Amino acid sequence: MVSSDQLPKNYDFAEVEERWRNTWRDEDNFFDKNSKKPQFVIDTPPPYPTGNFHIGNALNWCYIDFFARYKRMKGFNVMFPQGWDCHGLPTEVKVEELNHITKNDVSREEFRKMCRELTEKNIAAMRITLRKMAFSTDWSNEYITMTPKYYSKTQLSFLRMLASGYIYQSEHPVNYCTRCETAIAFAEVSYDDRETQLNYFDFDGVEIATTRPELLAACVAVAVHPGDDRYHKLKGKSMKVPLFGHDVPVVQDEAVDPAFGSGAVMICTFGDKQDVHWWKQHNLDLRKAIDRQGKMTAIAGKYEGLDTTACRKAILDDMKAKGILHQQEKLAQRVGTCWRCKTPIEILSERQWFVKIKPDEIQKAAHQITWYPEHMLRRMENWVDQMEWDWCISRQRIFATPIPVWFCKKCGEMTVPDEKDLPCDPTLTKPKHPCKKCGSTEFEGEVDVLDTWMDSSISVLNVTSWDGNGNPPYFPAQIRPQGHDIIRTWAFYTILRSVALTGSKPWDQILVNGMVLGEDGFKMSKSRGNIIVPEDILSKYGADALRQWGAMGAATGSDIMFNWNDVVAASRFQTKMWNITKFALIQLEKGGFDKNTPITALADRWLLVRLSDTIEAVSKAMEEYQFDVALKTIREFAWDVLADNYIELVKGRLYQQDGSRAGACLALHTAFDSLCRMLAPFIPYFAEECYSYLNPGQSVHKQPWVNFTYDDEAARTEGNTLVQVVSEVRKYKHDNNMALNAPLGKVTIYAPHSVNDEGDTGRAINADVHWRTDVAKLDRAITDIEFNRSVVGKTFRKDAQTFMDAVKALSPAELEKPPKTIKINGVETPLPTDAFAPKFSYMEEGAKVDVLTVSDVIVTIAKKE
Ligand SMILES: [Zn+2]
Ligand SMILES: [Zn+2]
Repeated sequence: MVSSDQLPKNYDFAEVEERWRNTWRDEDNFFDKNSKKPQFVIDTPPPYPTGNFHIGNALNWCYIDFFARYKRMKGFNVMFPQGWDCHGLPTEVKVEELNHITKNDVSREEFRKMCRELTEKNIAAMRITLRKMAFSTDWSNEYITMTPKYYSKTQLSFLRMLASGYIYQSEHPVNYCTRCETAIAFAEVSYDDRETQLNYFDFDGVEIATTRPELLAACVAVAVHPGDDRYHKLKGKSMKVPLFGHDVPVVQDEAVDPAFGSGAVMICTFGDKQDVHWWKQHNLDLRKAIDRQGKMTAIAGKYEGLDTTACRKAILDDMKAKGILHQQEKLAQRVGTCWRCKTPIEILSERQWFVKIKPDEIQKAAHQITWYPEHMLRRMENWVDQMEWDWCISRQRIFATPIPVWFCKKCGEMTVPDEKDLPCDPTLTKPKHPCKKCGSTEFEGEVDVLDTWMDSSISVLNVTSWDGNGNPPYFPAQIRPQGHDIIRTWAFYTILRSVALTGSKPWDQILVNGMVLGEDGFKMSKSRGNIIVPEDILSKYGADALRQWGAMGAATGSDIMFNWNDVVAASRFQTKMWNITKFALIQLEKGGFDKNTPITALADRWLLVRLSDTIEAVSKAMEEYQFDVALKTIREFAWDVLADNYIELVKGRLYQQDGSRAGACLALHTAFDSLCRMLAPFIPYFAEECYSYLNPGQSVHKQPWVNFTYDDEAARTEGNTLVQVVSEVRKYKHDNNMALNAPLGKVTIYAPHSVNDEGDTGRAINADVHWRTDVAKLDRAITDIEFNRSVVGKTFRKDAQTFMDAVKALSPAELEKPPKTIKINGVETPLPTDAFAPKFSYMEEGAKVDVLTVSDVIVTIAKKE
């Protein structure tokens, strides 16, 4: 134990946190491939390297670090890797901004290099925040998806799934962002409510309503409901498209709503998902009216080259001029938009690469995983259930994993590289073998690149050492922690890819965390100005306070509203804990106890049984990832049980110089040591600092999780009584304007059981305390009457005094059980039940005493005169 004069008066988080950060060694958190311990591999989310580790990340990582540290203490060989999901559009946009260029101003390779450099810089900045927050990252298992080492695995996974038929290319309608100029997956479509205009116009004699007149050039059919009598005559006919003049067939389909507009609708390629459905169903033509830049194509005739908005206006003007536009009305509409740039998506038919979605095998694997909280599984089920299209994985961008495929210039045959030649960029290299089909050596490399989710959805395969040969050695991982906002992307794609590549579920468990909302309850955003930056909290209150906020903010899985008060409360708890620490260390330093000291005093037994209860509850909560419950239970024990009750109760005994203090010292040591260990996963700096004073040279993070049980039912109930008695007597002193340490005379406690308190009660309340198990023999007398002035005044007004005199004249028996009426000025007057109460005084063995009742215990106090 360290000398108490070395203990600083106040806890200086900035000094302590920096000192331990510089002391801890990375190696202590490395996953040990040769270990005999059970493995606990975490499929950590690889954040996008924006340069700022945001508060949502911080919450997510707090959860991960809580259980990573807990599992290490529980004897697991833990892998807490750190990945970086680098590819994607935001970095491309940032590079363009920073360098004042567009991606077409430099070569693809030059542009990629600029993206890589920016990413490296951003990762370096984010690593610093991770370290400051004391996350016990396994830096030996860091991975960066843009490095050849990683993306060759992405390419290998692509080739494997291509070979097994999971991946195919095809011309198929896909969601397309014309601003980002790339296909996007359904999971990347967000929906916005907008107001649009519904236009009714004459379509070859039939009225049709449309919100997208600019798609007239892409009209391929008119659809009506088969039961709609109005259109029987059109069955099997064709109609002429206004303004464009091409003929389109009339088709009948149950999905047409006869009550909407005129009951006839036009089918275009493609206005929405329904159009795609009808197009397939009725085997219709394909007319592409919009190109990848969102401009009208040649089939739009004189409108060619216009963007869709200008084209819409021009067509409506022409309709008006021709007199075929009947009516226009406002319509509320949900529009699918690009999740990154909010541009309304178009559905374009393009040659793209797809991953087959097999809902049944994904559902099966999802059900083999334990979900925390359980209800998050429903979100996955719902998403899989509504899947209609396969996953479009090709993107028309640059900073991404290249699709390792060439096409023969002569015959079009596809060629792929040998696996040993990965990674490969087909735009820079040529295949090593001539075309299998025609022998040509002229090839064209695929310029499309892979969706970023193709990189990150093999994170679990990467960390479990997948190399394509059978199941990886550490697969499946034990847990996937992630936010609920990416269940339909990252969780979904990971399950899909694991099943496709290994045949099994990726993890045993998934832990889903909520989102962090601003102090105003809204999603944090620049425009609202409600963004909280972790670095801000770190500099004002330190990492441990921020981590406590993360644990206590809400139940796991719920969204958390950020609140500075929670951070302040966390820092206040540390101040309280520091005071407990100083007291405990000073007492323990005096020595005089060992592990074999018998524990006999009720207060000591009570502390240990309450500690045992606390450990059981905290361990259970940790197993179930209920961090709010765990930390709240620890805080209550430290604050209420230990500091406010136990220490106050045994202070007197600890100050004595005889052997009676040994039991209290052992109990205090046990509680303090346990607290350090239970706090270690939550507030690693603070716990380490306290523990280092208790056990110089040892780290709390290398200790096993606290394993202490103490079974003593009598101590629990009797100890609770003891604590209540002391607190009632203190309250009594306060009510009687006495100092808390004022001497009290003789106090007799009549309890149903005998108590060995080793004098603690007497010292705690400064009285001559006698515990007895017999029944108190008290004589009671009424000494005074307490009137309720407001009732008396209101009821009796000018007769108040007369009333009070009449009450005083009642017999003691009547005062205890008042009559219904009372005579005032000769009149029987109703007596309000709450007008007065008799005050009793008690005599015990001939002396006057005050009496307190604490549940089934009677306490008599014979005051010192
Ligand atoms: Zn976009
Ligand atoms: Zn060929």
